[in-house]
Amino acid sequence: MRDNFWLEQRLDHIWELLFPDLERKNKVHIYFKGRWKNKFGHIKMLRDRSSEIVINGLFANEIVPEYIIDTTIAHEVIHYMHGFQSPHEQRYKHPHAGGIVTREMKKRGFSHWLVREREFVQRHWFPIYRELVPTPFKKKKKSFFSRLLG
Ligand SMILES: [Zn+2]
Repeated sequence: MRDNFWLEQRLDHIWELLFPDLERKNKVHIYFKGRWKNKFGHIKMLRDRSSEIVINGLFANEIVPEYIIDTTIAHEVIHYMHGFQSPHEQRYKHPHAGGIVTREMKKRGFSHWLVREREFVQRHWFPIYRELVPTPFKKKKKSFFSRLLG
């Protein structure tokens, strides 16, 4: 089951295997949250100086391939590495300056997964999103009642 404990283990594995040189300078939390259509994750530094990685809560559903979670985790870990929302020294002016995240992901062995991710976003994500977050009937109901009344 994909719960927050599973997600924590996933982060640890990715960190150990693919970012062994990256020092974890503070506590890094990770959990599923939100039901976003256009956002896969984010990283934020909290007031207690720990960092919080959030992964789109819809990805807890096993209809979403695991590599989407992996690429999202790696993306946020790279922001951490570059000193965004982390105690590391900030290396760039902007977190997505000049494709720095993509470049680092390729360096860390994610080239193949980036291709799969793009494919997933282009072909599968929006239908899955519609399935997981159905639009409420509100509008329909309203017109039904207005028809009754009118
Ligand atoms: Zn980003």
